[in-house]
Amino acid sequence: MRQLYVNGAWVPSSSGETVDVINPATEEVLDQVPAGSRADVEAAVAAARDAFPEWSGTSPERRAGYLAEAARLIEERAPRIAETIAADVGAPLPFALKAQTLLPAKVLASYADLLGRYAFDAGKVGNSLIVREPVGVVGAITPWNYPLNQVICKVAPALAAGCTVVLKPSEVAPLAVYALAEIFHEIGLPPGVVNMVSGHGPVVGEAIAAHPGVDMVSFTGSTRAGRRVAGLAAETIKRVALELGGKSANVILPDADLETAVKAGVAGAFINSGQTCSALTRMLVHWEQYDEAVRLAVGFARAYTVGDPLAEGTRLGPLVSAAQRDRVIRYLNQGQEEGARLVLGSTDNPMDRGYYVEPAIFAGVEPGMAVEQEEIFGPVLSIVPFATEDEAVRIANGTPYGLAGAVWAATEERALAVARRLRTGQVAVNGGRHNPLAPFGGYKQSGVGRELGEAGLEEHLEVKAIQL
Ligand code: NAD
Repeated sequence: MRQLYVNGAWVPSSSGETVDVINPATEEVLDQVPAGSRADVEAAVAAARDAFPEWSGTSPERRAGYLAEAARLIEERAPRIAETIAADVGAPLPFALKAQTLLPAKVLASYADLLGRYAFDAGKVGNSLIVREPVGVVGAITPWNYPLNQVICKVAPALAAGCTVVLKPSEVAPLAVYALAEIFHEIGLPPGVVNMVSGHGPVVGEAIAAHPGVDMVSFTGSTRAGRRVAGLAAETIKRVALELGGKSANVILPDADLETAVKAGVAGAFINSGQTCSALTRMLVHWEQYDEAVRLAVGFARAYTVGDPLAEGTRLGPLVSAAQRDRVIRYLNQGQEEGARLVLGSTDNPMDRGYYVEPAIFAGVEPGMAVEQEEIFGPVLSIVPFATEDEAVRIANGTPYGLAGAVWAATEERALAVARRLRTGQVAVNGGRHNPLAPFGGYKQSGVGRELGEAGLEEHLEVKAIQL
């Protein structure tokens, strides 16, 4: 029976209740984790508060040592952790290994590196000494789609800064975080520095967000839940970091290499079965190239073999849950009702069991349709025509979100000019690769604050001016 990790020990939940963890490929119960209670959060916050004075006073070198060792153990255990993530989330095994396990290990290691050169004492301004200090106890609430990565994007900078942590993983896919807590235990992280309370958002998540002993709440998940977390946190004027949803646009300008741009755009839409906050779910194409782009996109999407996450050759696993599958199917129906053409995909399950949805493409999508505005979080691409560059920018910026985007053009200079006009936290120019050291986060309703790299560390620091 799994337990909570509080004050350096595995302990039962006071609730005595559990949450079933379902394997989305088989629909069978894979495991059970405790459904934590408010009392569990109390104990975890108390432990984190007690641990803070000593941990915040450790040297950056010592903290770097823990982070580097944890990264090393994740790498060493990567095959097993990836199998856990494949079973828990439904991600195809090679993707679960590379993007879901080894990438977060790199993020952890990057903070060990950063601690070797970061100046917590930031120098003098006139007669003032400027110092940066940890914000305190950080409450971290995370989603299921990249269950290890999203946790490490919070815990690594928090620990690097000298903060202590109360962590609530998603109840939908919590198992990789158990592997991480075991690693923290094994490397001898002092008791109370990281505490993990599994369970439901409205109970455990809300107790963390509202708790006066938590100095900062760092949330990744839906805009809906983020709004609730920010509201609760406002009562005690906590620092809030929010990494929320997206509806990112892939803008293909008429002089771009259409085939390359469409191929990369399809990949960017279907990554992790479309369950990626920064997925490029809208493809914006000049109307003169529109039919050709749709034809190419359908061709590329057909190559996305749907299947068992553990089977060789699978590119799209199941969606994470029945609820997520139902949500995607609702949008497939709604898009057609609103007049978009479903040129690929269907609402039928292509497999005998599991929460599968085939890759789907909508053509004839107009700005303002639900499938153009709302985050679907499944393998659904909407292709939208535009007539001018200004119109493309207007459409790209025309949702409440502002997380990511992409621009393709014949020259970097031209693409960069459009990239600068997008109101989003990230933009990839002509296929620019994801950079785990670059700040990641959203404009508008995609969030507040930044994760990764130095920006991620500074989210967890207070600035003090000492007048001499
Ligand atoms: P979700 O909002 O349902 O849940 C996220 C976490 O919040 C879970 O741990 C959940 O238990 C908890 N939660 C739910 N209701 C809560 C409440 N009332 N109070 C406190 N906590 C609560 O999101 P999800 O379905 O797990 O994840 C998908 C969403 O996450 C998508 O919208 C996606 O775009 C977003 N996301 C964003 C980023 C980013 O970096 N911007 C990264 C990954 C996922």
